Amino acid sequence: MEPKYIFVTGGVVSSLGKGIISASLACLLKARGYRVTIQKFDPYINIDPGTLNPYEHGECYVTVDGHEADLDLGHYERFTNVATTRANNVTTGRIYQSVIDKERRGDYLGKTVQIIPHVTDEIKRNVKLLGNTGNFDYIITEIGGTVGDIESLPYLESVRQLRWELGQDSLCIHLTYVPYIKAAKELKTKPTQHSVKRLQEVGIQPDILVLRTEEDIPAEMRRKIAQFCNVAADAVVQSIDCPSIYEVPVMMHAQHLDEIVLRKTGVTPEGEPHMAPWLRFLDRMHSATEEVNIALVGKYVELQDAYKSINEALLHAATANDRRLNLTSIHSEKITAENAGELLKDMDGVVVAPGFGQRGVEGKLEALRWCRENDVPTFGICLGMQCMVIEFARNVLGLEDADSTEMNPATGSNVIDMMEEQKSISNLGGTMRLGAYDCVLAPDSTAAKAYGTTQVKERHRHRYEFNNSYRERFEQAGMRCVGENPATHLVEVVELPGKRWWVGTQYHPEYSSTVLNPHPLFVNFIKAAVDYRASRTMEDYAESQK
Ligand code: GLN
Repeated sequence: MEPKYIFVTGGVVSSLGKGIISASLACLLKARGYRVTIQKFDPYINIDPGTLNPYEHGECYVTVDGHEADLDLGHYERFTNVATTRANNVTTGRIYQSVIDKERRGDYLGKTVQIIPHVTDEIKRNVKLLGNTGNFDYIITEIGGTVGDIESLPYLESVRQLRWELGQDSLCIHLTYVPYIKAAKELKTKPTQHSVKRLQEVGIQPDILVLRTEEDIPAEMRRKIAQFCNVAADAVVQSIDCPSIYEVPVMMHAQHLDEIVLRKTGVTPEGEPHMAPWLRFLDRMHSATEEVNIALVGKYVELQDAYKSINEALLHAATANDRRLNLTSIHSEKITAENAGELLKDMDGVVVAPGFGQRGVEGKLEALRWCRENDVPTFGICLGMQCMVIEFARNVLGLEDADSTEMNPATGSNVIDMMEEQKSISNLGGTMRLGAYDCVLAPDSTAAKAYGTTQVKERHRHRYEFNNSYRERFEQAGMRCVGENPATHLVEVVELPGKRWWVGTQYHPEYSSTVLNPHPLFVNFIKAAVDYRASRTMEDYAESQK
């Protein structure tokens, strides 16, 4: 079949969950046997979100092919189990860069280069890139931003043209917000009507409306919205707040979103989507009553989206262990030698987060010291792993000034140092060691046992590495380098074999954890946390019987 293009736009306010709706639809279409991919077009001028800090844009996600991407791509992968690539996330910056490069090369043959047609043509070319591979039946394109934004206009114009060119092979889903005014006890449809009008003004008639709401929208009100907005009554779907994002596909299917999309793109829906494994996950998540207490130590913990993939990977793993995740975020800047015990004593496991720069590092080191001395299952990721190395060097090897040259370029004990190939790089954007690289694990390591293999490939985003000239001293003192890159010998995984569970990874396993494939290292970490909790409960019991 010809590839079908679904455009997802948003109106009224941002943060309505376009990414989750796109991912949920993809999940359903995939469960019906279609080959689906989702791409996000972001209207900002940055070439990619790699240079944005988490206050601006939440987590920076990394694709297998080393693209620093919008965090929605994480949702796409977690919901569909399909890897994304550089082609799945395009920004205005990239579109302009490509247009300007073409202009400099003389490709436009003396023409005046303009938003229409040159920028819009470049957007359209990018929209169709994945569709043209022949690998996909449905290409879902999420347009970032909100209808009415000046910067979204070239994208909406491109969508208008594509809808015209593609006819039934495309459709537009518009997501809006239906606020509930408490004082009046009323849901309000006006913002939706205005939002659809804005879309119609630029020549796009939405085919389906998804209404984000906190209260159930009565059928009568949906009919009214349908009538005002030129949309079929059954194509007005509500997206009501629910306890977990992973329920959204089920909620969308209950309102036939997948069938409506198929019909409107000229495909007759047959049977039901195969959602059994997904429903099993939801079932396990809901029926898990016993808790596992996990702390996440990082400097952006007050931001909901800064550690998105880690939060989700922990949830997948807790569910795989039939435990309810009780996640406590601890601000690393607030941790000191004095309060670490108080903050961490109830934790069954501790994750030390990735990050950049000095702020919060000393708190991470204090947390790690307490966890190591008290033998709490601990997982260090990227900077978290580097902190494990620094803490061990300072407190076990006695190298008091041990540090990363990122934090202290003048340190005499540079146990974490800048990678050689990074030293000549001056541009910050897209120049880290990015994407998937091989790692070979020692067969008797915790990591190899967790994976069930010694050959893994994981994603990276860093400039600094374990300094191999210290390797022997670490190994002699009990910290093992159990994973390394076979080509460069870069240390990928460190462990303390004497401990319950002490694993640090230079790579980011969280990026590849999905609902249907929870990441084995996270699953194993939670298992260790569950065992540790059980052992403490036993001790408490024994103590009470004395
Ligand atoms: N700042 C560290 C480095 O660049 C760690 C990066 C990270 O945690 N993603 O190596």
